[in-house]
Amino acid sequence: MIYPWQTDDWQRLQQLRAHWPPALLLHGEAGIGKLRFAQHLAQGLLCETPAANGEPCGACPACLWFSQGNHPDYRAVLPEALAGLAAGNGDAAEASADKADGDEGKKTRTPSKEIKIEQVRALLDFCGVGSHRGGMRVVVLYPAEALNVAAANALLKTLEEPPSGVVFLMVSARVDRLLPTIISRCRQWPMSVPPQNEASAWLASQGVDNPAELLAQAGGAPLAALALANDENHALRDFTLAQLAAGPNCDAFACGENLQKLPVPLVLGWLQRWLYDLLAERTARRPRYFPGAAKALARCAQSADPAALARYMKTVTRQRAVENHPLNARLVFEELFIGYRAIYTA
Ligand SMILES: [Zn+2]
Repeated sequence: MIYPWQTDDWQRLQQLRAHWPPALLLHGEAGIGKLRFAQHLAQGLLCETPAANGEPCGACPACLWFSQGNHPDYRAVLPEALAGLAAGNGDAAEASADKADGDEGKKTRTPSKEIKIEQVRALLDFCGVGSHRGGMRVVVLYPAEALNVAAANALLKTLEEPPSGVVFLMVSARVDRLLPTIISRCRQWPMSVPPQNEASAWLASQGVDNPAELLAQAGGAPLAALALANDENHALRDFTLAQLAAGPNCDAFACGENLQKLPVPLVLGWLQRWLYDLLAERTARRPRYFPGAAKALARCAQSADPAALARYMKTVTRQRAVENHPLNARLVFEELFIGYRAIYTA
């Protein structure tokens, strides 16, 4: 199944069916269901009796193998950390791609977040062997930005001249992180964030109480909004927003204390969105992520020093660049929130 907002993409893609591109790059915001779409597309290409609109039948041997995760002409290549999403159901996939960060530090060895060269080598072996069912062979690679440099380079030649009948479906939320040589070998297929009303209706159908608010926080991406609704860190997110709303009275040490168990990237994401809205407020635009906190944002924007805010935003961006490094989260948070407080007293 694809998501309701993807039917247009599906139909337009089927027009390529007669001349299917050897490598397709499906890209767009995280949390809009690209992985599930790619998996469904793969099933449609492998199905032995597809419907006229390219929908897989769900009943032929190919469809049965696919749904059991063992079609011999199908490969899903994902980083070890996301291995659980490789089976035919990428449902919560994109939302949890971010969450994979959350388990860090609990185990002695963290599963890799990269697609490694060994995985690409195994894939090239798969491409070198003929089709088992006499049809296409399909590869879903997710997320393409997880290819490390060696792996990407190993893949290049095959992407350029794929063996006959091999089709690559590359999925990416960060095309800016892909090697240009990878991008240039793919047919690009941008996928957009669904219209707000459509996404809200879908969230409501999933039992979410406040779809509009969560959707705003998730930048319009419905699966990310759903993940927020089910987020076990809900209370801490509210705590953080209350601290940010307190502006100069933000308690940096309480933030360090309360948030220290959370992954740094998660908190940085909240902070960045808040700053984005603060800046929007200063330039008389509507808050994008936290419309529910419009009053507090207006108050904070009034008292923040513009130059200090600009400097602080740069600091946070720099922190994002090193967010996956093992740092003492408590100290990182204390420093960040002390910095935040300082934009009001400059
Ligand atoms: Zn079928």
